[in-house]
Amino acid sequence: MYEIIDGKAISTEIKEELKVKVAELAEQGIHPCLAVILVGNDPASGVYVNNKKKACEFIGVKSLSYELPEETTEAELLDLIRKLNEDDSVSGILVQLPLPKHINEDAVLLAISPKKDVDGFHPENVGALCIGRSGFVSCTPAGIIQLLKRSNVEIAGKECVIIGRSNIVGKPMSLLMLRENATVTICHSKTKDLKEVTKRADILIVAIGKPKMITAEYVKEGAVVIDVGIHRLEGKKLCGDVDFDDVAPHCSKITPVPGGVGPMTIAMLMNNCVDSVILNG
Ligand code: NDP
Repeated sequence: MYEIIDGKAISTEIKEELKVKVAELAEQGIHPCLAVILVGNDPASGVYVNNKKKACEFIGVKSLSYELPEETTEAELLDLIRKLNEDDSVSGILVQLPLPKHINEDAVLLAISPKKDVDGFHPENVGALCIGRSGFVSCTPAGIIQLLKRSNVEIAGKECVIIGRSNIVGKPMSLLMLRENATVTICHSKTKDLKEVTKRADILIVAIGKPKMITAEYVKEGAVVIDVGIHRLEGKKLCGDVDFDDVAPHCSKITPVPGGVGPMTIAMLMNNCVDSVILNG
């Protein structure tokens, strides 16, 4: 019988812990503050930003909202980031992606001070992760480590296969699993015989962006399966990159979609917000 890893419950547990931490910091006169920048009116981005603001409210972190029109220029956005970098009352800065096409995303992410980069996307933070130094870690992979640890999944010495090598999920995930002493393999669209590789995994982390692509034939009996994918099917039902009904009976533990990795991303963003005030203090 498989066990479902309950990301909703674990993320609530983390947010409750952070709430206590934020209250303790407040007693010392230390107040984290997150500046959230949204450019344009993409409805999905609007929902994500609102969820982030709600999470801030829940743990007691102040959030400042900058909702800029679609036609905002790159120079205007960079100017706002510069001001927020210099503002000592702001500890974390988040720019909601994607940005409108006329704005260079790399230039924007580079402009955020690495000390306020709560998304962990700045090359300085990515580099720190790579060489084992402290710094902000991308929220989704950091959340997956918490999911595994808090579900008592042993990582050290295990075969971990990650499908996907994006900068925000696959690559940082591989570095974090390496830090936890797993033996790590990364697969991507050019991997030959994907099934042969994934069937070696004690821990299989799937971040492909293809609904229900991973079926039972990709999974070793008794593996732990983490599904990062999120897709809205017709009829509005959500699903992941893993065919849950087919795969779950062959796993020891598995994350569902929704209610698995998704809620952890925001919990870890809140964790980074709290860390940001300590880093900037
Ligand atoms: P990307 O599209 O950036 O990366 C997808 C990766 O999968 C690429 O490395 C690609 O390989 C690889 N890939 C694509 N097709 C195949 C295939 N047939 N076989 C093997 N590998 C393949 O996606 P992200 O990493 O940004 O996101 C992955 C999924 O996770 C998406 O569904 C996204 O919505 C979701 N997501 C969920 C989050 C959450 O909070 N729950 C947060 C972030 C993402 P190549 O590099 O060769 O092109």
